[in-house]
Amino acid sequence: MNIAIIGSGYVGLVTGVCLSHIGHHVICVDNNPQKIKALKKGRMPIYEPGLEELMHECVIKRRLKFTGSIKEACQKSSVIFLALPTPPKPNGDADLTYIENASREIALNMDSYKLIVEKSTVPAETGKKIRRTVQLNLPKRFKDGNKILLDFDVASNPEFLKEGSAVQDFMNPDRVVLGVESKKAEKILREIYKPLKTKILVTNIASSEMIKHASNSFLATKISFVNAVAQICDRVGADVLKVAEGMGLDKRIGRQFLDAGIGYGGSCFPKDVDSFVRLGEKNGYDFGLLKEVRRINETQHQSFIHLIEEKVWNLKEKTIGIWGLAFKPNTDDMRSAASLKIIAQLQHEGAKVKAYDPKAMRNAASILKGVVLCKDPYSTIEDADALLLLTEWPEFKEVNFIQVRDSMRQAVIFDGRNMLDADKLEDMGFEYFGIGRGRL
Ligand code: NAD
Repeated sequence: MNIAIIGSGYVGLVTGVCLSHIGHHVICVDNNPQKIKALKKGRMPIYEPGLEELMHECVIKRRLKFTGSIKEACQKSSVIFLALPTPPKPNGDADLTYIENASREIALNMDSYKLIVEKSTVPAETGKKIRRTVQLNLPKRFKDGNKILLDFDVASNPEFLKEGSAVQDFMNPDRVVLGVESKKAEKILREIYKPLKTKILVTNIASSEMIKHASNSFLATKISFVNAVAQICDRVGADVLKVAEGMGLDKRIGRQFLDAGIGYGGSCFPKDVDSFVRLGEKNGYDFGLLKEVRRINETQHQSFIHLIEEKVWNLKEKTIGIWGLAFKPNTDDMRSAASLKIIAQLQHEGAKVKAYDPKAMRNAASILKGVVLCKDPYSTIEDADALLLLTEWPEFKEVNFIQVRDSMRQAVIFDGRNMLDADKLEDMGFEYFGIGRGRL
């Protein structure tokens, strides 16, 4: 199958590389010339485990190309995936300008049947809007005085990959969801995903769009639920780790996404929850439950800051060392990371912030102002008054904590991800504070 992917970011590159890996001919498009230049030179512009190696393999097999031109991609492909940004507008609506512009450009460059597939997360009814945009912009062609109608289909195929394990998730998905409006589109998409041998759910476009929104919002709800539970745990002397374990053993509940912490971040959950709330509002439904999920998430990092202020006292002129900046481990992505809000608040209070992340330092350098970026975990906590663990990178468990204790001015740890062994650290002489551990 000849496939184009428009938008070569976290989703587009994983989709493009993996589809190429399973045998398709793929051309990835991006309007960022630096990105395309790097990709053509064999450099992966994002960090995602295993992706760069897989990309090299596909390029060598001549099944993967990169271009800055939608026109070229349209000419070379019959299936076009849209993996474009859908960022939030100030009112919470998804900004669909990228989707509209790309749809128009595809229409203008269409010369034969195309299947246009939404991979981006979009609100229900976007499929209809794409169809209309393409119809309005199709070039008018005539043969013997008769108008030739170019045939095309729109479909929805939401992406459920998780950054940090995206290649693994794409190749072994729990399910592939296809929202289609014709048998032809269904047949093509089934053919594309055939090598994955996974459960395929076929439905209409609106249901498929809703599946993605409902899934992400449900996961965000689980996180906020356990964060609310953690707040009570702290007050009654219960340990949220044990509570989550006990809840998770119930198969109807499951242990995943019951990790209390400083709240969810990243480029998906916050915007997808906002966008789902707005979709409800626009259709006359007040999704109060999701508004509460959002509120709990906001208060989670604030109560973390309050805890630090209570235990470290005045933050002015204090040195705070931070381990972990990415919104989750195994990625360099810092979009809407909880670390950003926490650092901003610490700086506002006059603290000196030093930070280290195993993969996000390049992004950190372009986003963070006034933060001393360090080369390793040890230099980050030299003379620090407190250590904050904000991303649960496994390598932080392997650090020599005796050396850490002896380098800090005050051996105080705030574990925003409940990752470290509290008892062991307390035995070493640290003051340890987690989230909902009932030890305040
Ligand atoms: P991203 O910002 O990493 O990638 C988008 C890419 O599109 C960028 O490289 C940008 O330069 C490019 N682009 C913008 N306008 C373009 C144009 N006119 N022509 C060509 N390229 C253009 O975004 P992402 O994280 O990959 O997310 C894409 C979509 O997938 C979003 O809707 C997101 O909600 C959804 N999604 C993301 C994830 C995730 O984990 N990141 C998971 C599932 C779904």
